[in-house]
Amino acid sequence: MTKDIFYGPDFDLLSQQDPEISAVLLSELKRQQMNLQLIASENFTSRAVLATLGSTLSNKYAEGYPGKRYYGGCEEVDKAEYLAIERAKSLFGADHANVQPHSGASANIAVYQAFTKPGDTVLAMSLPHGGHLTHGSPVNFSGKWFNVVSYGVRQDTELIDYDELRDLAIANKPKMICSGATAYPSLVDFEKVRAICDEVGAIMWVDAAHFIGLVAGKAIPSPVPYADVVSFTTHKVLRGPRGGMILAKEAHAAAIDKAVFPGMQGGPIMSAVAGKAVALKECATPEYQKYAKDVITNAKALCTALEGEGMRAVSGGTQTHLALIDIRGTGVNGKVADERCGNAGIVLNKNSIPFDPEKPGITSGIRVGTPATTTQGMGVEEMKTIASLISRAIRSEDPAVLAGIKSEVHALTSKFPIYNA
Ligand SMILES: *Cc1c(COP(=O)(O)O)cnc(C)c1O
Repeated sequence: MTKDIFYGPDFDLLSQQDPEISAVLLSELKRQQMNLQLIASENFTSRAVLATLGSTLSNKYAEGYPGKRYYGGCEEVDKAEYLAIERAKSLFGADHANVQPHSGASANIAVYQAFTKPGDTVLAMSLPHGGHLTHGSPVNFSGKWFNVVSYGVRQDTELIDYDELRDLAIANKPKMICSGATAYPSLVDFEKVRAICDEVGAIMWVDAAHFIGLVAGKAIPSPVPYADVVSFTTHKVLRGPRGGMILAKEAHAAAIDKAVFPGMQGGPIMSAVAGKAVALKECATPEYQKYAKDVITNAKALCTALEGEGMRAVSGGTQTHLALIDIRGTGVNGKVADERCGNAGIVLNKNSIPFDPEKPGITSGIRVGTPATTTQGMGVEEMKTIASLISRAIRSEDPAVLAGIKSEVHALTSKFPIYNA
């Protein structure tokens, strides 16, 4: 692996001008290539997306929307934003798309702003059961400015308790009900959520940040026909640039656009907007649809193989790109497992499991995802190998053993280059 693989001539310029930062770029590329990337929210974008992100579009101010900007000279970036919007609407069959949010959290701020006022009640998935910070955490704007009531999973099935969700909706009369999470391995029943929203007159908001890429690849059902509004990130399974996006029904289009700008952001990051267009075009291909299905096949294989190693899959397994694994059977907690895996070149995260007896800083579980390794071209056989590497790493205290596992990891990842020339 050399720097020429994907940095091209501009990398030489950077390394002359700023050797410290160029060294970071190079060693981060090495880290991504050599270790096993199992963080469920990460992926490797295409070189085309990277090229767009590193372009002169970054120089342009474009406050406002295409055709209605507050700055001159937007005729070229307008084309990029129109393309991103049209591609998003066509890929997801949506009435309206706003492609400007800088991130998933920013998109969610805009959703709150479009449909609620501070103090309003919102129903969302409980954080310890997989919800996101922006779903009402007390340290987040959502928990500070809104009355967020949480629903969770049933203790016996570890699947969303729709009866509890309906009871809480009837009792609390929320303005908005949010479904979607960051650590929920199963599918959400959007039809049931829609019926509950209709029963209590709530806006149906789906935070699809984690799984929208699987929807884009037509590998799982879409929330778009059901929801009033769908927010998401573009950098997880979707494999685009770091950023956010919002889809909405026509009736909500103006409210969403106003909430993003001027409600929440100034100028959009036009290099990222163009990168979103590039990624959406990639998502519409048969290759990407195969990728999305392979991500799920791999997640199921990894999950089954980890069960074979004496660990327990939360929610009875996975139907998506991620698995939540209860590792109490190994006698090791999530924090220690995370550290041991890290020392063995396996990058994953500790994660609370539903009804976790351990504190959030310790946890009884790990979360693993397959978007990145699947992009690399790994398949079911590699997932079995990875499960065995994870199990051995978790169960080993000996730094020498962990170093040995790390060389096995490097031997595996070197067969799957992330950026070819
Ligand atoms: C990742 C995620 C977000 C936040 O996205 P950022 O780009 O990190 O701000 C929001 N909601 C859910 C459900 C997520 O998984």
